[in-house]
Amino acid sequence: MPEKSVQEKLVPEKPVIDKRQVDALAMHRERMVQEQLAGRGITDPAVLNAFRKVPRHLFIEDGLIFQAYSDYPLPIAEGQTISQPFMVALMTQELGVRPDDTILEIGTGSGYQAAILAQLCTKVYSVERFGTIAAKTRKLLDELGYHNVMIIIGDGTAGYAQKAPYDGIIVTAAAPFIPDTLVAQLRDGGRMIIPVGGEQSQELLKVVKQGDRLQQQSLGGCRFVKLIGEHGWEK
Ligand code: SAH
Repeated sequence: MPEKSVQEKLVPEKPVIDKRQVDALAMHRERMVQEQLAGRGITDPAVLNAFRKVPRHLFIEDGLIFQAYSDYPLPIAEGQTISQPFMVALMTQELGVRPDDTILEIGTGSGYQAAILAQLCTKVYSVERFGTIAAKTRKLLDELGYHNVMIIIGDGTAGYAQKAPYDGIIVTAAAPFIPDTLVAQLRDGGRMIIPVGGEQSQELLKVVKQGDRLQQQSLGGCRFVKLIGEHGWEK
């Protein structure tokens, strides 16, 4: 039906944002970097620059685009969330990413954390348990040219042994304990950032693997959605 194809062309997939709105979003992004990140102790210039480069509003549900640079987490698909910008920045800074690093992320979600990591290092492997979320995020990261992020669908509590050992592992969902499986996939001297605790609140931990010892440090309280899998929460 010719009428229908005309209609389809008139309905864009994404809401059209005009030049003025794009400029406003860029301004919000810079303000986020200065006030929410630099203003609260994120000092690594490479990390701050990564947050300047990644257009966070494209990782957010359409109706929430203009909240993308606000100081709180936002809902994504399947009842999951994209973390508050400061939390993503703190975890990234504490992970201590170097340009040659290979990083494993557990919990791809919107792909925002993965995109930030991809600005800072060679290769990012990211595991997501929902195929629906993984597919949507893969499409977005392709459109934005993040070809150094590999998304794997599966239970991230088992890690991704194929590409181990990793220089760093970042877990972006709440774990009841530190999974041994992930520790085993860290190289000696490797770092892991992981929220550990109950269902309602957790402690953000920085774990450094030193031979067969683990050095642990608390980075403060936090609240993440649950890490569900064989070495995490049952459901
Ligand atoms: N890093 C994400 C945060 C997403 S929220 C971002 O930047 O948007 C946490 C994600 O972890 C959710 O998408 C959830 O589905 C996923 N998740 C929970 N348990 C998991 C597991 N065992 N393996 C892989 N992904 C898991």
